[in-house]
Amino acid sequence: MMLGFLLARAGVRTLVLEKHADFLRDFRGDTIHPSTLTVMDELGLLERFLRLPHQKLERLEGWFGDYKIKVADFDRLPARSPFIALMPQWDFLNFLAEEGRSLPELTVMTRAEVTGLLGTGGRVTGVRARTPDGPLEVNAVLTVGADGRRSTVREQAGLELEDIGAPIDVMWFRVGREASGLDRAFTHVVPGKILITLDRGDYWQCAYVIPKGAAESVKARGLPAFLEDVSRTSPALKPRLSDVKSWDDVQLLTVAIDRLKCWSAPGLLCIGDAAHAMSPVGGVGINLAIQDAVATANLLGEKLRLGRLTDADVQAVQQRRAWPAKMTQAFQVGAQNAILTPVLTGANHVLRPPLPLRLLTHAPWLRGLAARVIGLGFRPEHVQPALPGRNVGGAINPT
Ligand SMILES: Cc1cc2nc3c(=O)[nH]c(=O)nc-3n(C[C@H](O)[C@H](O)[C@H](O)COP(=O)(O)OP(=O)(O)OC[C@H]3O[C@@H](n4cnc5c(N)ncnc54)[C@H](O)[C@@H]3O)c2cc1C
Repeated sequence: MMLGFLLARAGVRTLVLEKHADFLRDFRGDTIHPSTLTVMDELGLLERFLRLPHQKLERLEGWFGDYKIKVADFDRLPARSPFIALMPQWDFLNFLAEEGRSLPELTVMTRAEVTGLLGTGGRVTGVRARTPDGPLEVNAVLTVGADGRRSTVREQAGLELEDIGAPIDVMWFRVGREASGLDRAFTHVVPGKILITLDRGDYWQCAYVIPKGAAESVKARGLPAFLEDVSRTSPALKPRLSDVKSWDDVQLLTVAIDRLKCWSAPGLLCIGDAAHAMSPVGGVGINLAIQDAVATANLLGEKLRLGRLTDADVQAVQQRRAWPAKMTQAFQVGAQNAILTPVLTGANHVLRPPLPLRLLTHAPWLRGLAARVIGLGFRPEHVQPALPGRNVGGAINPT
């Protein structure tokens, strides 16, 4: 959606195909980081965007057993919006789609599921899609697979995937917000258990972390045992756990970390999770996907508009974005190995925070560094100014 917006803004006729009828799904996280807020600011959309309901997270903190840990201070960042905006991703995507309506070059088609690629002579020339009105074929100079960690596009293109491995899955559920006594701590760790709570205003979105593949055994113990585990991890949630009435209220989200060896083929490019699936650790996947979109528009927008795109131009996107993706995945794997796995397997049964967490808790300058890595990411991208006279979404750029 973001790439569609940016390319259309650059004057490139762009079609976004989304297989669902809307963006209302609960599986993608809720964090809009300072890097994305900067992008919104550069697009002139920040003020309107922040009128949408959101909660501000200025610091990343948590409980590790009896230790209060501090991980990142976003309010130390040299950014116009030095905080994470907690907002359901569907609000963010709806906002972009709504703002995109003023861009004549942008078309968004929902209920259009890409099922295959069109091609000739080893070059991808578009996609086949399923729509309620029947099959659709779209011809395109460039096809971009931004279809997430189970990407049909990358699979159809036969692009080779490197599985890095994630030892966790997540049980995702919500409970009413007035749970008394629960502070805004993001992470709650007790021996063998990890719970993340996201403040969504009138409710807590909860992510209970389990070892990979353990969902069936968790369910086999029954819902009361599961809720008991949750309340032991965060006792303040207990009064509202009755909101979870059946397993239908608990969604299993499988976690993956992987990346494509090559993000492109002639006529085709993958970005976001389709190129590098991110785990929820650090809540950075959305922002990395947005940064990919900004880099792609910067590198390819003008060339697409002028009809001068080469395969080398498309490969340049991977050259620019592979390093930030690798570094971020390395940070996620490091957190998995140092924190998540020892807690979930019981190796850290005394629950002393690992050294990196103790250092962060005691050294504010390190929390500033962590805020940079999590909040701005490696190699932050910036939106290129729109061409003079061009409609830039809601306004004509006067400069
Ligand atoms: C449990 C969990 C929690 C997470 N929490 C966070 C968080 O809090 N913050 C964060 O930043 N990241 C989080 N992440 C990571 C984040 O969800 C992803 O990195 C991010 O959503 C990637 O964005 P994307 O646009 O590449 O893919 P997606 O968000 O997966 O979007 C892909 C889109 O393509 C559509 N689509 C798929 N197939 C087709 C098709 N064949 N035809 C047409 N459309 C199709 C889908 O419907 C979807 O709208 C979490 C991940 C997990 C697993």
